[in-house]
Amino acid sequence: MRRLRNVKIVATLGPASSTYEMIRALFEAGADVFRLNMSHGTHAEQRARFDIIRKVEADVGRPICVLADLQGPKLRVGTFASPTGEELVEGAAFRLDLNAEPGDSTRVQLPHPEIFAALEPGSSLLVNDGKIRLIVKDCGKDYANCTVTVGGTISNRKGVNVPDVVLPLAALSAKDRDDLEFACGLGVDWLALSFVQRPEDVIEAKQLAKGRAAVLSKIEKPAAVKAYTAILQVSDGIMVARGDLGVELPVTSVPPIQKRLVREARAAAKPVIVATQMLESMIESPVPTRAEVSDVATAIYEGADAVMLSAESAAGKYPIEAVTTMNNVAMSVEHDPTYRQIIEASRSIHRQTIADGIVAAAREIAEATNIKAIACFTQSGDTASLVARERPRVPIIALTPLMSTARKMSLIWGTHCAITPPQDRFKGAVIAAVRAARSDGFADLEDMIVLTAGVPFNVKGTTNILRVAPCDERLISQVDPE
Ligand code: PGA
Ligand code: MN
Repeated sequence: MRRLRNVKIVATLGPASSTYEMIRALFEAGADVFRLNMSHGTHAEQRARFDIIRKVEADVGRPICVLADLQGPKLRVGTFASPTGEELVEGAAFRLDLNAEPGDSTRVQLPHPEIFAALEPGSSLLVNDGKIRLIVKDCGKDYANCTVTVGGTISNRKGVNVPDVVLPLAALSAKDRDDLEFACGLGVDWLALSFVQRPEDVIEAKQLAKGRAAVLSKIEKPAAVKAYTAILQVSDGIMVARGDLGVELPVTSVPPIQKRLVREARAAAKPVIVATQMLESMIESPVPTRAEVSDVATAIYEGADAVMLSAESAAGKYPIEAVTTMNNVAMSVEHDPTYRQIIEASRSIHRQTIADGIVAAAREIAEATNIKAIACFTQSGDTASLVARERPRVPIIALTPLMSTARKMSLIWGTHCAITPPQDRFKGAVIAAVRAARSDGFADLEDMIVLTAGVPFNVKGTTNILRVAPCDERLISQVDPE
């Protein structure tokens, strides 16, 4: 079984998508990666979804990638005396403090002492996805007196964003640490870190993950946009988290930021996911809007590794239709000749290593001839990432003996992962590659593929061989050395 597109689809699981039948249908419609959102639901619910994913994986015989998304230091107000909250009007005074008593129209608790320490007169606070805006007039170590500059309804436990301040918050809350340990214990392939502010936040999470899962940084704070290059360097991947980004920064700044984040991640050979509100109207409707289709298409033309569904697949009425829509948009875009032109014009690679050179040569040989696929033997997945960075015209087959690598690499652009037994002889490796290419539908007996490998085998970082091979293994046995 193979996909007929390069971009990958991430589908968030939730109440609308927790049964075996639904998760299998989402995979069959095109979902390559399932996201468990640790902001919602219990560990028991996430474990049940995880176990179903692994059952589907075994039943369909394809590696499936699982991403656990940690909530991060999300700030929330306390509760109100009135269950429906209060209406704040423009120009009114409103106070935030540490007092746990229920709030009213003049004040509410903000149970985060470290935030009061970081606020200054003039700082803005955004409540309820940016719907309400407060400006700090004066503040102390346990209060902030604010003026309402954009009014609206505030109610129990609504989220608060503080865009202009680098918050003195730990990257991971106690809940995040607990969720990280839980997710690594389950065996997820990727962790996503919310509200990353500095490279140190990522380093801390990686230390806790201890290599059990790769770590991607969600870029959703102005501070993270500023420190992006340094954050990218220490991250294994990136998510353009446009929901919170569009609250913390003017929503019109999101498209240019998205372009930059995707471009730099591509150049660094690290996967980048474009996320949030991609097919928002499909939460309620079986068909997308024109604008949504264009938005998904834009991310694909930019060369993003993956596009993501949030509530559309987790809590919407049409999860399968949403995945099908993404799949169809991808097929349409990737068949457009302009797609290849744009992808090639935006390829920016500073080649330095032997592996960089070998994968570039593999692409050039494949594209100049009638070669059907580039197969690469990869231990850690790094060589597959380098091939994917080339954004070749022909499919990429990543061959690895490690299921964990195959799952992790299923997030990467254009990469079809296949498990092969560990190789220790060159001829055996070539035969394994051509068999995988044929059995997964990439090539026929009379075709050729190009493959990269590293000798000694089964050692990370040794890519040093490029071989053009006929897919008929009887020909291989005659010419190749043992
Ligand atoms: P969230 O992250 O869905 O966890 O908030 C994505 C975003 O902010 O866009
Ligand atoms: Mn977010």
